[in-house]
Amino acid sequence: MNEEAVSELILNAFEARTKSYCPYSGYAVGAALLTESEKIYRGCNVENSSYGATICAERCAALKAVSEGDKVFKAIAIVGAPKDASEVKDYAYPCGVCRQFLSEFGGSEMTVIVAKSIDDRKIYSLGELLPEAFSSESMK
Ligand SMILES: [Zn+2]
Repeated sequence: MNEEAVSELILNAFEARTKSYCPYSGYAVGAALLTESEKIYRGCNVENSSYGATICAERCAALKAVSEGDKVFKAIAIVGAPKDASEVKDYAYPCGVCRQFLSEFGGSEMTVIVAKSIDDRKIYSLGELLPEAFSSESMK
């Protein structure tokens, strides 16, 4: 990915974060997912009073893409911090469930960007974050 595309994805993740519904944890997360069709889908964490019903920002974005027919993922940018924080102080890595979920549509080559700002970010392949992933190949 070129620098411009990385920056655009991070900006979209920051924008998505503003929509977070996190009255229980107070931790707001935004994600921006780039698909092979070059579309960007935004997602935020959506919590629920029945905690287990909560959806992470990454899966929110992924569900929006898949439900629109976009099933090949190229990259995702993730930003997370306490809701009222004026700046993002830590990288927000995807949880294990989201790593597995993204793997279904992005495979090990998918790019995962965790960012504190446009300039302060880390870039991984999903394979680095989820080595030896369970996949459809595992079921043959
Ligand atoms: Zn997650």
